[in-house]
Amino acid sequence: AKSAGGNRFEHADPEADARAITRHGLTTALPTALERGEFFIEYQPLVHLADGKVHGAEALVRWSHPTHGVLSPDRFIPLAEHTGLIVPLGRWVLEQSVRQARAWQEELAAGTFAGPVRINVNLSPAQLHHPGLVADTVEVLERVGLAPGSLCLEVTESALIGADEDLLKPLRQLAEMGVDIALDDFGTGYSNLANLRRLPVSVLKLDRSFTQGMQQHPADAVDIKIVEGIVSLAHSLELAVTVEGVETGTQADHLRRLGCDTAQGWYYARPGPPEMLHTLSLADAV
Ligand code: C2E
Ligand code: CA
Ligand code: CA
Ligand code: CA
Repeated sequence: AKSAGGNRFEHADPEADARAITRHGLTTALPTALERGEFFIEYQPLVHLADGKVHGAEALVRWSHPTHGVLSPDRFIPLAEHTGLIVPLGRWVLEQSVRQARAWQEELAAGTFAGPVRINVNLSPAQLHHPGLVADTVEVLERVGLAPGSLCLEVTESALIGADEDLLKPLRQLAEMGVDIALDDFGTGYSNLANLRRLPVSVLKLDRSFTQGMQQHPADAVDIKIVEGIVSLAHSLELAVTVEGVETGTQADHLRRLGCDTAQGWYYARPGPPEMLHTLSLADAV
């Protein structure tokens, strides 16, 4: 029986409807977008905090949509995860990124690039669960000719919370081959710090929320204490600490003083085309 309000499927929020329609449209367009080559990658440099020299770059995927323009990954990665397209899309991102790192290394050998040229690639939980992960990664590295030690795979802390051995095994295999594994968005997932020992990770990527606390004058005292604690724990476990979202020199100064190893953020460079890293690395060298 219908209430006096009429059709219960009638929404009160037209904006929510519009968002749902867009989401649906994007989801159905995803598979053809990959075939049509609508995705592209921007690279954001990671620098050593001590001297500002380029350490490597993180690959960040974008979708150049024919009518919506350039879409950020937050708009489509969740949809790709939901539909399973993340597996072929992730494989494409890995291949492009590995090729780019290899190209940088060739320039390095030719003396037109000042390297080093390490590449960080994000992995979704769905990719982690995909049985082909290790074989696909090894295949791409071998075919393109990039050393496993030049690749770092970023996995979010939340994807590994409560992870059992089955989930950790592929990461362990990759780590044993020399691939670095970074724990992304670290500090947001409330994971048990003692658990870190169990994970095959070699890098902690401190979430941007900590970096934001370093912006205030004076810096947030609690954030300082927490970062101090994390850095000391990480270093005692022989893990490197990367900080993301560094937007100002003030933040960089605090984070350097606290002993963080590498940094990434708009203060150094926004994500951009591969040529940008080229220019940065050469500027370093002079
Ligand atoms: P993330 O891995 O935490 O990447 C860092 C995000 O912070 C990027 O957003 C980057 O552009 C942004 N960022 C960098 N420096 C600054 C800064 O100084 N200030 C601020 N406010 N932001 C900064 P982006 O490119 O929009 O990517 C968002 C997320 O999408 C990434 O977060 C990552 O989780 C996901 N993602 C991106 N590319 C891929 C991919 O190829 N595969 C998968 N599975 N996920 C991806
Ligand atoms: Ca990341
Ligand atoms: Ca991150
Ligand atoms: Ca993040």
